[in-house]
Amino acid sequence: MENESQPQIKGKFTTCKLVKREDLTHDLIKFWLEPEESFNFKPGQYCTIGTGGIERPYSIVSSPDEKNIELFIEVVPPPDGNLTPLLHELSVGAEMTLRPRGKGIFVIQPQFKNHIFVGTVTGVVPYVSMLRKFLNDTNWPEPEKMENVKREDYQFHVLEGASYSDEFGYDEELTQLSKEHDFIHFYPSVSRPDEAKNSDWNGAKGRINNLVEDYITKLGINPKETCIYACGHPQMIEDVEKRFSNTDFTFLEERFWKDDD
Ligand SMILES: Cc1cc2nc3c(=O)[nH]c(=O)nc-3n(C[C@H](O)[C@H](O)[C@H](O)COP(=O)(O)OP(=O)(O)OC[C@H]3O[C@@H](n4cnc5c(N)ncnc54)[C@H](O)[C@@H]3O)c2cc1C
Repeated sequence: MENESQPQIKGKFTTCKLVKREDLTHDLIKFWLEPEESFNFKPGQYCTIGTGGIERPYSIVSSPDEKNIELFIEVVPPPDGNLTPLLHELSVGAEMTLRPRGKGIFVIQPQFKNHIFVGTVTGVVPYVSMLRKFLNDTNWPEPEKMENVKREDYQFHVLEGASYSDEFGYDEELTQLSKEHDFIHFYPSVSRPDEAKNSDWNGAKGRINNLVEDYITKLGINPKETCIYACGHPQMIEDVEKRFSNTDFTFLEERFWKDDD
């Protein structure tokens, strides 16, 4: 018999199992999920998971060629947060619902040479997936979708903002990739440089939306050959969008929540 006090997830879904978790800070967790059935998605897309009858979308960190679905989740405490406090309590082995396939249009725009990936904390997630896929699969993006751009002309710039340096999540991987590949650049910035938690920080300082224009100007790149992606905090996205609204740059966004939520 169904538990009537608990909301029920309706429609078509499958399940997945939590096979690994890593707690980065008190409110940032990484999950690795093993889907019950094969799960198809494009780099940059999200999956929808649920427990206790509540479900939410999460952008996927892993590349589609990895066995497990990797997620990077910020726990929003109650009363605002609903699903994340439940996710925070889950142990390895827990089962969750999973909608059957990835969704979303925040995917690579293959016709551009320069890809400026701007994100706040968990907003870096879709970029990690795209970079992993790019490095794992020399046939991605599909050559016929790249118009006149050559794969070897691609330049990726990941600009990530966080309050504290321990919130970046993928800084080790991105720093390593930027050392190994001259077409990958990683520019993390902390917005509260004077706080004790950031005392070891030697990198850029300030909100990432305030730094993006300068960063791009210094690159001296052609706006018509450039797509600016922005993901995560809605105010960061709005600000970046405003800064580039009357230019020839192409702009693509993924908001994790709405400002008026
Ligand atoms: C396409 C898409 C992809 C997403 N990918 C990710 C991801 O990779 N990682 C991730 O942590 N979240 C992601 N989110 C947000 C996620 O779906 C949930 O909204 C979030 O985890 C909070 O869920 P909740 O049920 O606990 O709170 P909700 O019931 O969703 O309510 C949260 C409320 O708290 C506020 N809030 C404060 N901080 C946040 C925050 N970080 N996220 C959401 N709301 C916040 C908002 O006002 C919001 O209305 C994504 C959202 C979308 C639409």
